[in-house]
Amino acid sequence: MKKQVVEVKINQAKLIIIQGDITKQDTDAIVNAANSGLMGGGGVDGAIHRAGGPVVLEECKQIVARQGRLPTGKAVITTGGNLKARYVIHTVGPIWHGGNKGEPELLASAYRESLKLAGENHLYSISFPSISTGTYGYPIDKASEVAIGSVITSLRESITSVKEVVFVLFDSQTFRAYSSALEKIVETGDRIPAE
Ligand code: ADP
Repeated sequence: MKKQVVEVKINQAKLIIIQGDITKQDTDAIVNAANSGLMGGGGVDGAIHRAGGPVVLEECKQIVARQGRLPTGKAVITTGGNLKARYVIHTVGPIWHGGNKGEPELLASAYRESLKLAGENHLYSISFPSISTGTYGYPIDKASEVAIGSVITSLRESITSVKEVVFVLFDSQTFRAYSSALEKIVETGDRIPAE
């Protein structure tokens, strides 16, 4: 199968959308769609902990011991352990309750806080999964627009070391949703500068 890639430039940074397995990415950091307890779980969380090894969980436990459970929309950083990525940024997306419980703001915050943490750690590249659209039930068409919108806004509005943001989508349906969300934002001319 031909590998599909969508790529655009925002300020000095590249935004790339691919279909694949985030645990195989060699960006400086990969983002984990974690839960507040940071204890690992199913989906992408389980896959990242399996590939990263016990040292990732150990650092997560230390963080929770220090600062308590991670609130929805916030992010923390640990080593990448055995992963190619040097770091894992753990963030908690919202559980979908129908859309009136602040879900879009919380989802946008999860992306924004992850990027902020990457910048604070002087990272160049970061990979995101589709946060909240698995077990947490956020509809993919809505989540993809929030995700792409949030990342583009962050890249446009802040001076950051992050020059490469990759969305690594596991299945073709999710890949298509993110690709068309990007097209929509490009079409409406919202945030992408003509380059
Ligand atoms: P959440 O609890 O935030 O909904 P999930 O892990 O259940 O998180 O799902 C989030 C997304 O991650 C889903 O689209 C799922 O298909 C995807 N996913 C699962 N494993 C991987 C992986 N190894 N790489 C990239 N994405 C993955």
